[in-house]
Amino acid sequence: MSEKLWIKNGEVYTGGEEARVFRGGLLCANGTIEALGSDAELEPRARGAEVIDAGGRIVSPGFINAHMHLYSMLSRGMALKDAPPADFVQILERLWWRLDKVLTLDDLVPSAELPLADALTAGVTTVIDHHASPGAVEGSLDVLADAAARAGVRFSTCYEVSDRDGEQVMRAGIAENVRFAGRASGDPMLAATFGLHAQFTLSDASLEACARAARDASIPFHVHVAEAASDAADARARGFEGALDRLHALGCMSPGSLAIHCVHTVESEWSQLRAADAFAVHNPQSNMNNAVGAAAVDRMLAAGVAVGIGTDGMQADVRQDLRAAFLLGHHRTADPRTMWGETAGLLETNRAIASRLFGLRLGELAPGAAADVVVFDAYAPTPFAPENYLGHLLFGLYQARAHSAVVGGRVRLRAGELLGIDAERAAARARELAPALWKRF
Ligand SMILES: [Zn+2]
Repeated sequence: MSEKLWIKNGEVYTGGEEARVFRGGLLCANGTIEALGSDAELEPRARGAEVIDAGGRIVSPGFINAHMHLYSMLSRGMALKDAPPADFVQILERLWWRLDKVLTLDDLVPSAELPLADALTAGVTTVIDHHASPGAVEGSLDVLADAAARAGVRFSTCYEVSDRDGEQVMRAGIAENVRFAGRASGDPMLAATFGLHAQFTLSDASLEACARAARDASIPFHVHVAEAASDAADARARGFEGALDRLHALGCMSPGSLAIHCVHTVESEWSQLRAADAFAVHNPQSNMNNAVGAAAVDRMLAAGVAVGIGTDGMQADVRQDLRAAFLLGHHRTADPRTMWGETAGLLETNRAIASRLFGLRLGELAPGAAADVVVFDAYAPTPFAPENYLGHLLFGLYQARAHSAVVGGRVRLRAGELLGIDAERAAARARELAPALWKRF
């Protein structure tokens, strides 16, 4: 493999604070972007480089999914065994907590590979995952990270600590987070967070043990917060203003932490989030699917909260949730003027979340930034400029497949073909494993 990579002949959107659009490409070396420019400018410096000819297609930074659950893959099409859940806690009890309990390390291989393959073909190059498999805790994060390494996706994960499976599993979850933080340390393709399920399934003593362990391991938290009204009500019954307030009070909202959902949070908690230098992450399709309400994304952003965007396992393609955020925001506010700047804000926050977590410049094409670049199989059909990028994305580009994807300067998808994962074989393995999993469920 050549160390140098030249992506040429593209309609390049750089992203970042001073986004621009130009005709040409970029030169990468040793995992980093060295230079951007026209083909004529870069050609003399590109001697000996591996070449991707974008053929006039749109080139952009790889997308970042700020909240994902790879473990949910094998539930696709599975029938529930009890009466249909009538609220969010019943969805957890009758679906997710039953499923995660019977997952094996073998199940996790195709369960991770398939959505990671989907991510690359959708132009998502960074995945921030949240994992649960209480029957197979130790080593579970390695299985996921190994799959990410095969796929070539930049990957963060954590184990969701909870009291719901007893003290031993809770302790094993803490240990798995700490162990994985050791593996991820120093690897630019990996990052660790400290996973918590949600405050309502954790005692004060458990949260305090997690706070100590996360502090010692120097990793931020990744936790579901006030996804449904019941989580906020649980925290209020314990004497707090809400779920975020309790996590904050018990030391589980350290700088850089990810507070997922925040649907049922109050303004005083937003100040806490801001003061803690932590991030909220919006997952609109999952929230609609679970019928838990719609987060006040516009108000949170206006209050200075950094809100990012994830998919919560609904699918690997974060662009679908970005579009859903835009539409749901219009629907919730009944004001079509909202959600333009806000949707751009969600993308900006994802850039900040990933850059901080991995200690690299991610989500932008600039000299010195990580070489995570996607050539979309799409051509700009109308004038294309930084000012109207969002219009192109939300009304067209959101559905384009990636033609090529480069992560850390290495080609991982070329002309529509995945180079690291055999998706057909992974699907066949998933179809072998799923019937037994569904039986155990
Ligand atoms: Zn989630």
